Amino acid sequence: MTPLPLQVTPAIKPRVYELDAAGLAAWCEAAGFPAYRADQIRRWIFGRRANDIAEMHDVPVALRTALSNNFSLFPARRVQHQVASDRTEKLLLELHDGQFIECVLMRETDRRTICISTQVGCAMGCVFCASGLLGLKRNLTTGEILEQVLRLDRLLQKGEQITNVVVMGIGEPLANLKSLIPALDTLNEKGGLGLGARRITISTVGLPEKIRELAQLDKQYNLAISLHAPNDELRNRLVPVNDKIGVDAILEAADDFFTMTGRRVTYEYVLLSGVNDEPQHARQLAKRLQSRVAHVNLIPMNGVTELEFVAPTAPRTDEFVKILESFGIPATVRKRKGADIDAACGQLRLAQERELPV
Ligand code: SAH
Repeated sequence: MTPLPLQVTPAIKPRVYELDAAGLAAWCEAAGFPAYRADQIRRWIFGRRANDIAEMHDVPVALRTALSNNFSLFPARRVQHQVASDRTEKLLLELHDGQFIECVLMRETDRRTICISTQVGCAMGCVFCASGLLGLKRNLTTGEILEQVLRLDRLLQKGEQITNVVVMGIGEPLANLKSLIPALDTLNEKGGLGLGARRITISTVGLPEKIRELAQLDKQYNLAISLHAPNDELRNRLVPVNDKIGVDAILEAADDFFTMTGRRVTYEYVLLSGVNDEPQHARQLAKRLQSRVAHVNLIPMNGVTELEFVAPTAPRTDEFVKILESFGIPATVRKRKGADIDAACGQLRLAQERELPV
């Protein structure tokens, strides 16, 4: 009988940027090179858009070889690259363990905003969202979060720069703060992307203790809370984890965040026709937020093939905005980007998973 081939999992080399600046400097020194070489390597990654370690031509060959032996640069496989007519671009990436994640680049006149994922799948189960339909598989590592940013950065042309980052892709960011914060800090640092903390927004389903933990870090990252309903009865139906949390506890945590950081909190509210878009919902929401320094971002429901929710009409949406404004609450309606590609978070991954044999 022929022996079965051994099932050897290929050794996974960590991404170079899985290490922070100090970590890479320490690694260089341990490998017999001066610490400043780490800054040079990071400049190639974050500023000079290198696609391969071999391109880093002013780094000594011996160091490049040592780096290649120990680290990877962009190990994820690009499975899909969609480009919409408004030049929104979306990548579906496959990770070493066969899991899929997605990330998006959105272009506006003076902005290049990217949207990134923090988990494979999501445990929150929001009923209108494609990301949670298959549950949570695992957290992403810092390197996996940063690879999305760097791969999108490589889609930009010379002279174009990432100006804003929204952590609004697949997953619940505050459930993976351990990987997320080092990634965002790298984006924020001068030797990283050098992107102002105020240009980075973390969106959460509303986990009170995690909101406080984030506030305590004393960073200037923006916080957006996905409220979606002005009362617990409705929110429990739309955001099942609310059952154990409640709107009051979220608003209290948001108040603490504001007190501690001085940053105005944004409340996201996905508009679902006939579900949470009644004038009375707008009034109730306004009353709850009236005493607060808040901003409401209304998101018309982005269609998901297997879900029945739809966005309200434009006049209905305008009415919602007007009611909020009549109470002095600033409100904006999120512009739809990438309408002709599967741009709502989680849709591309869902399609990919559905096609695969179980
Ligand atoms: N877990 C985080 C990040 C999720 S994605 C959170 O809950 O905030 C960012 C935003 O998109 C959230 O407000 C989310 O509720 C919203 N969203 C999810 N699916 C949507 C859809 N199909 N249409 C419009 N918005 C959606």
